[in-house]
Order: sequence, then structure tokens, then C-alpha cells
Amino acid sequence: MKTGLQERMRHEPETTSDFAATHARIVQVEEFAAHNYHPLPVVLSSGQGVWVEDVAGRRYLDMLAGYSALNFGHSHPELVRVAQEQMQRLAFTSRAFHNDQLGSFCEALVRLFQRLIQAADGQPAARRPALQAVLPMNTGAEGVETAIKLARKWGYTRKGVLDGQAEIVVFANNFHGRTTTIVGFSTSPQARYGFGPFTPGFVAVPFGDADAVQRAISPRTVAVLVEPIQGEGGVVVPPDGFLRALRSICSEHDMLLIADEIQTGFGRTGAIFACEHEKVAPDVLVLGKALGGGLLPISAVVSSRDIMSVFAPGDHGSTFGGNPLACAVAIKAIELIETGDYAARAAELGPYMMQRLRAIGGEKIKEVRGRGLLIGVELHPSAGTAHEACHLLMNEGLLCKDTRETTIRFTPPLVITRQELDWALERIERVLA
Ligand code: PLP
Repeated sequence: MKTGLQERMRHEPETTSDFAATHARIVQVEEFAAHNYHPLPVVLSSGQGVWVEDVAGRRYLDMLAGYSALNFGHSHPELVRVAQEQMQRLAFTSRAFHNDQLGSFCEALVRLFQRLIQAADGQPAARRPALQAVLPMNTGAEGVETAIKLARKWGYTRKGVLDGQAEIVVFANNFHGRTTTIVGFSTSPQARYGFGPFTPGFVAVPFGDADAVQRAISPRTVAVLVEPIQGEGGVVVPPDGFLRALRSICSEHDMLLIADEIQTGFGRTGAIFACEHEKVAPDVLVLGKALGGGLLPISAVVSSRDIMSVFAPGDHGSTFGGNPLACAVAIKAIELIETGDYAARAAELGPYMMQRLRAIGGEKIKEVRGRGLLIGVELHPSAGTAHEACHLLMNEGLLCKDTRETTIRFTPPLVITRQELDWALERIERVLA
């Protein structure tokens, strides 16, 4: 990849040979891969920082950042160095044996969780256990499944809920992954259709409505599972005080507050965790995506040692969870996020970007919402679909992703500079004005 900014920003119209190179790869995927995604017709072959290059040598600014897995940008040199060194030394062991990275990874993540707990000091009735523990998995959905199993077993063994009766309160419009249990409590017809029968034990209430949570709970309720900001659901920010209200309800009724920060964590919203904005410490924190530095899948559940101890050896696990390669990369990712620089960049550039997007005005944009660099632009239905807008943005050199029919999600890597963001905004203005 060329490094001069002007060179990297070059984005020229497609030629016949560009088209052939792209087309051949897309046909291959169409022929041999399952059709469970609807990607934009661009075939990427390399990436550095916020920039990616396609097989025809054209450069794009990545405004999706792998759904927030790439908060540190593509191929962050320190993360790549750690991955290469670890891969040459020891990549995999399974949990049948110890490895020399797992303990340091868990300790680093506990350190990060402790910061959240300390920031929540002074809050009524929040659980502030002295000791925490980490359970590593691989994908975000596995992390959420782990949290669900943890909450259920905690409910049966600690709260005294009758076996098989536990309920978890979730929110309408949620997105927590794609397993059969998780899609079973999705409120999206497409996520569910054709995949039943579903796991019982979930009650969905409107997002942002703490009173509805109060009404939904019963002695069988063991937990509330929440995304601090709904990402896939269209970048929906709940009313101020919502998380604090959930914290109070959970403490009062002896229920676990489970925060799914798989998308909102690791600096995305302008704080290391989105829960920090309301000074709330959850009982169970679920992380994924950027934890793997944009290089590897790794997810984790963090909770108190007391809660986590409901799991006995053999209750839960994963062949790849806690592997030394992913742990080594995650340790470095945690070190990077602890500098505060990435969250600070999102806190500085997010409001600037939202203000510029709101200033576009015109007939296409209905609403701009978000926090930090997790931003959604809601289009008027008359402006066409968000997917069509993403096509137009791609032709301008920006890779973006729609979420729901009419929302474009802008979540660039947190290493984006003001100059690069201005370059992107000029093109967004051209397409959406
Ligand atoms: N939870 C949230 C909030 C997410 O945004 C996602 C993915 O987008 C997941 C869970 C599932 O993560 P994964 O795709 O790694 O299973």
C-alpha cells in the first residue's frame, strides 16, 4: 500500500480490467459460498489503518471497521508484531493444559473491568465485588450464550429459582448474535423465521423503557440483558438514565445486569465502555469484536469471582477459547485501549461528525443519532434504501454498511484522523445532500 495521504485518497472510476478482476472473485463466492450475506460488490485484498485496497488497486476509506472489530484499524503494527511472535512460539494448546498467555489476558481484562467498577463508585446498591474472573470464548454470540448460561445457573443455585423456570428480560430490537437461542429472543421476523422451535425463558420489553422492565420481572427473573446502545438495531441510543435505572432494578430485585458491550466496548462510543457514560457497572460484561485487535476472534465474559464460580469444570468451555495466540493479541489490544487515546478520538470526532451530518439537511436525511463514532443516519423512505446509498458511497471511495432498511451506520476505525474524516464527510455530503 502506498502511504502518501493524497495517494491513498485516490479513487478513480472503474476500468474494464478492474471490472474483470472484481467480477471473477464475486462469481467464485456466488458459486461456492452460502448466500447468507449481501455484500457490496467490492473485493478487498489489503488494508492499513483506515484504508483498504481492492483487487483492482482502488482505495477506499473503511467506514464500517468490521462492525467495530477494527477499532484499532487494519493491521495495527504492534498487534501484528505480537501475533507474529506468538504464532511462531505457540498458537494453540486447548484448555486441557495451561498456556503462558491466558492468565495475563484474564488479569488484563479484570484490570479494565475494575476501572469500570471504580468509575461506578457512589452508585446505590451496585455490586462491587473485590474479585473478578474472566471466561474466554471466541465469537460474540458465544460470549452472550455464556452469559445466559451463567445467569441461569446463578439463578438456580444462588437465587433459588426452581430448575427450568429462569427468565431473562431482553429488549425489543436487540441484536446479540445468531445462535438458535439468541435468535429465539430476537424481535426481528427475519432473524427468527424458519429457525424454531426456540429456547423459552426470555421476555422482551421496549428498549429504553425501565418501567416496562419493572412490570416484566417476576421472582423467576434472573437477569436483564442489554446493549447500552443498540448497534445492529439501527444505532438506537436509550434515554439518559436508562442504564442507571436498570442497575437499580437489578440490585433491588437480586437480578444480574448483563451488558453486551461487544459492539459498544473498546472506545467506540467515546469511553472505554459505554456503561461508563452512566457510571454503571454491570454484574456481567460481555466483550468481543475489537478485543481481538481486528486480527482474531476472541470474546470474553467478565464477572465477579463469586458469580463465575457457579461454573464447575466441565459445565462450559470451547476448544479454541483462551488460546495463546488470541490471548496475546488481546493483551496488546487491552494495553492500547488503556491509553485512553482511542476512546478520546471517538469522543472528539464523534460529535464533530454528527454535527456535520446534521448540517447536510436536505430531503434525504431524517435523523442523525449515535454516540462517539457509533453513528447512524436514518434516511427518509423517499430517499431510497440505505443499501442503495451505501452503493453510491462506495463509488465515492467509502465503504459503509446499512443496518435495517433505512439506516446507514458510520463506524470508522478509531485511528481515523480529522483530515481523513473530512475527506469522508465531503463525499457523504455529495451523496446525501
Ligand atoms: N452482540 C452484539 C451487540 C453485536 O453487535 C454482535 C455482532 O454484531 C454480537 C453480539 C454477535 O457477535 P458475533 O458476530 O461475533 O457472534
